Amino acid sequence: MKIAIIGAGFTGLSAAFELVKKNHDVSVFEKDLKPGGLAIGYQGRGWEWSLEKHYHHWFTNDNSILNLAKEINYEIIINRPKTSVFIKNNIYQLDSPTTVLRFPLLSFFERLKMSTVIGLLKYDPFWKPLEKYKASVMLPKFMGKKSYEMIWKPLFINKFGSFADDVSLAWFWARIKKRTPSLAYPKGGFLNFATGLVEEIEKLGGKIYFNTEIPELSSKEKPQIKFRRVGNSKLKIENFDAIIVTIPSFLFLKIATGLPREYKEALGKLKSLGATNLILRLNKPFFNDSTYWLSVCDKNAPVMAIVEHTNFMDKKNYNNEHLVYLGNYKSIDDDYFKMTKKQMLKKIDPYLKKINPEYKKSIINYELFKAPFAQPIIPVNYSKILPPFITPLNNVYLANIEQVYPWDRGTNYAVELGNKVAKLIIK
Ligand SMILES: Cc1cc2nc3c(=O)[nH]c(=O)nc-3n(C[C@H](O)[C@H](O)[C@H](O)COP(=O)(O)OP(=O)(O)OC[C@H]3O[C@@H](n4cnc5c(N)ncnc54)[C@H](O)[C@@H]3O)c2cc1C
Repeated sequence: MKIAIIGAGFTGLSAAFELVKKNHDVSVFEKDLKPGGLAIGYQGRGWEWSLEKHYHHWFTNDNSILNLAKEINYEIIINRPKTSVFIKNNIYQLDSPTTVLRFPLLSFFERLKMSTVIGLLKYDPFWKPLEKYKASVMLPKFMGKKSYEMIWKPLFINKFGSFADDVSLAWFWARIKKRTPSLAYPKGGFLNFATGLVEEIEKLGGKIYFNTEIPELSSKEKPQIKFRRVGNSKLKIENFDAIIVTIPSFLFLKIATGLPREYKEALGKLKSLGATNLILRLNKPFFNDSTYWLSVCDKNAPVMAIVEHTNFMDKKNYNNEHLVYLGNYKSIDDDYFKMTKKQMLKKIDPYLKKINPEYKKSIINYELFKAPFAQPIIPVNYSKILPPFITPLNNVYLANIEQVYPWDRGTNYAVELGNKVAKLIIK
């Protein structure tokens, strides 16, 4: 079969890999110059490795992507970095049952209640009965109002903004269930890994067109795409036996012609937030206690997570620079999406000084990255609105980030989606 895939993120690449292994004629169209999608990286001068524009790691049970790495002989590094929370101007490590039981801002009884709820969720294999409940209603009820308000509520607000109270308990279950204390990372960075996958696809005859966008697709007699080099108005037209679309649903709605109204309305109901990450390149560590991930439990903070990547991966791979992400999830009409990197640093700076008053002296450089579509909102009973792979357009399949459920979106699930949609087409 002759198959077009729109997007060279991990969904598109893994679908392409599965299909070329079965001798299909596959063409991947990607508007960016490089593969990786939301997990794409860049390389600073003097760095041996690339760094993701937005912080990325895997859990050690992310089997779909870890098996893919194994299959293409790609080296994975596993470390156990420190994860902490920032509450009332202090950092508390909170990444194991022992650290939860030692957490000093809650009474022993409150700590016990919180760890019992987390433990129950961790060992509960059934998410379906949970999806009808809102996390914001059930968590304070069962783990106690104080722990919820102190730790979890600010995290929900920082991650989901005005949608925080709507998020399903099944999403929270998935976050707890999946988390592993050790984390994994592809040697060289996600961009390098995606490039390795591209090479495997090309070895098997697949074609990948970078810097090429699809402004329109349809399926009357045959699935058809119009494509062009980015920045060039000259359109080319090509027919295929099947098309796999891996871009977010609202973009699919923009480029697809001939979709029925009810389908458009259903996809149009899905909500999401964007993400911004300001990356500081420092000549000294930011944290003095080797924290990798710091969740800021303060709903008024100008930053949601401070992630010192070089407390996870060795700084020698980045010319001995200490690399720190300052991450936020925001709606695309938020001011954060309008800010320059200078404005954003100015906004976050007073907060950073609470943790490291001297950090500014060690800045070598800093960069700002924005992803307008980064985090789907998962309300109660999401399974009822989850878009299917099969679309109303004949032989046009949708496999995108909004179909990842109950798990939180991630490259592991992108690989899972890619594999599933490829199998569906092969069948
Ligand atoms: C802030 C942040 C943190 C994250 N943290 C992690 C993490 O720690 N671990 C993890 O595993 N995952 C993480 N993720 C999620 C992960 O990056 C995504 O789930 C995954 O990359 C999605 O892959 P995808 O292929 O489905 O979609 P995408 O990566 O979005 O790929 C879609 C591709 O389509 C291309 N495209 C769009 N429109 C067109 C068009 N018209 N024509 C041609 N090409 C087009 C895009 O350029 C893109 O390359 C994070 C994401 C963000 C934003």
